[in-house]
Amino acid sequence: MKLNKVEIERYSRNIIFNEIGINGQKKLKKSSIAILGLGGIGSAAAIYLTCAGIGNIRLIDRDFVELNNIQRQILYDEEDARKHKLKAIAAKEKLESMNTNISIEAFAEDFNPRTAEKLLKNVDLVIDATDNMETRFLLNEVCVKQRKTFIYGAAIRDYGALSTIIPGKTPCFRCIFKKIPEPGSLPTCDRVGVLNTVPGLIGILQATEAIKYLLGSSLLQSKLLYIHLGSMSFNFIDVKRDLHCPVCVKRKFQFLNQKINRMQITMLCGGTTAQILFPSNFDVIKLRNEIINNPLFKIEKQSDYLLTLRYGKYQILISSFGRILIKNIESEKEARDILNKIIGV
Ligand SMILES: [Zn+2]
Repeated sequence: MKLNKVEIERYSRNIIFNEIGINGQKKLKKSSIAILGLGGIGSAAAIYLTCAGIGNIRLIDRDFVELNNIQRQILYDEEDARKHKLKAIAAKEKLESMNTNISIEAFAEDFNPRTAEKLLKNVDLVIDATDNMETRFLLNEVCVKQRKTFIYGAAIRDYGALSTIIPGKTPCFRCIFKKIPEPGSLPTCDRVGVLNTVPGLIGILQATEAIKYLLGSSLLQSKLLYIHLGSMSFNFIDVKRDLHCPVCVKRKFQFLNQKINRMQITMLCGGTTAQILFPSNFDVIKLRNEIINNPLFKIEKQSDYLLTLRYGKYQILISSFGRILIKNIESEKEARDILNKIIGV
């Protein structure tokens, strides 16, 4: 794969840096990376990988931008939040304005057992920029199954962690984090906050590690880097393969094989917003059409991806990917009452 004149100029500081050089730059150009999650970590990783000249970048996130995101999610601005733009679409636009020499795909889709394998097909490497353990366990299983490397990254409060996971060579995610936590039992940024530079730093370190991996010099294999910015400490912890690991040894894919067949309701953001996730076979388009024709709901805004409605004191956001947010709400029960009016569940 050749570099054209513009690329040689654009990446000249990479090329004169011995550890990359012209051959390294060509390798980056023919590489393909998926970034799963486009929040604070994904924003930073995506920007650096785009600017470094990774030839193909796949962006995956089903969410839309909200005002409380832009404190740390540096791909987005106030207008994106006002318009509740889909993160994958807003990110693609922003990244394309930074580099027209690469190709960027955007998938505003939910990453679940039905979509996971398809979404990660044909990429060399995955950046884990998700925000919960359940998705990471699923990602791990897909990567072990497809023998695909991924770079784990997480950030909360003032600490973060990362590790490079190469199926068949290093411990897998399940070897390191053996116990599956109860849903809702771990702290989340919604509940305990996050210092905005922590996800940025983790994303940059993942991008660094990704570039090094593609060039054959990654460092965080069988190591977990644990960072506490409160004390500016960086600790490397050796991690070992679990000889009884259900995923990478026994190849039992519990998360990948689970069926999603029920609706999930969760209270977010200090208890004033309810999030409703529908199973992946739910017909959101049909629901949208029914609501648009229902005089009980006043339409505030609509785009191909998002419908914003007013119903009394509630604001309801319906994304075309099976996610509903109800704002100004106090309990799960209240959410069920409203859903009953919308879809009769
Ligand atoms: Zn394992």
